[in-house]
Amino acid sequence: MSTKPQSPYAVSVIDLLHKPGEMREKSFDVAEPEGFGNAVIGVRQGSSVHVDVRLESLHDGILASGDVDAVAEGECVRCLVDVSLPVEVEFQELFAYSEDEAFDYTIHDDYIDLEPVVRDAVVLSLPFQPVCQEDCLGLCPQCGVRLLDNPGHEHEAPVDPRWAALAGLEGLTDTESEAEKR
Ligand SMILES: [Zn+2]
Ligand SMILES: [Zn+2]
Repeated sequence: MSTKPQSPYAVSVIDLLHKPGEMREKSFDVAEPEGFGNAVIGVRQGSSVHVDVRLESLHDGILASGDVDAVAEGECVRCLVDVSLPVEVEFQELFAYSEDEAFDYTIHDDYIDLEPVVRDAVVLSLPFQPVCQEDCLGLCPQCGVRLLDNPGHEHEAPVDPRWAALAGLEGLTDTESEAEKR
C-alpha cells in the first residue's frame, strides 16, 4: 500500500501500471493550495481549479492528456480595476517509469503529480498585459479618473507642462482671486 502524496493534483495510476493500451479518464477539482501566476495576474490561493485528464498506459510510462479550467485574477494594466480572466488550457505530458534525466516527469509510488504540469500550462497562457476590456481607455492622465466610467470626460484648457509648475504656485492664491470676481 502506497501513501498518498501531499499534492492535491496527484492521481493514482496503480491500475494502469505496465498495462500498455489501457486507458482511463478522470475529472477532479482542486482548491489551489498556494496560488500561481505571473507578476500581474494569476490563480489565487484557494481558487478552484478543474482538471479533466485522460491517462493512457504506454510502454515507457503513463501519458497524461487533458485540460484545465480556472479563473485568473489581477488588475487591468491600464485602469487598475480588478480583472477576472477565465483560463482554459490543454496539456500533455509523459510520466515515465524511468528516473532517467531524459524525462521531465516520473511516476512516484504509483502516483503521478499533475501540479507542475497544470501550473506551467496555466502560467504560460496568462497575459503579461491583462486589460479589463480590449478598448479600455485607461485613466485620465490629468486627474486619474477611469475614462470608461466617465464618457465624454475632458478638461478645459490642457495645461502646458512648462506653466504647470507656476500654476501650482499660483493655485495658492486662486481661491482669493476667484472670490474677488464674484
Ligand atoms: Zn481597464
Ligand atoms: Zn481628467
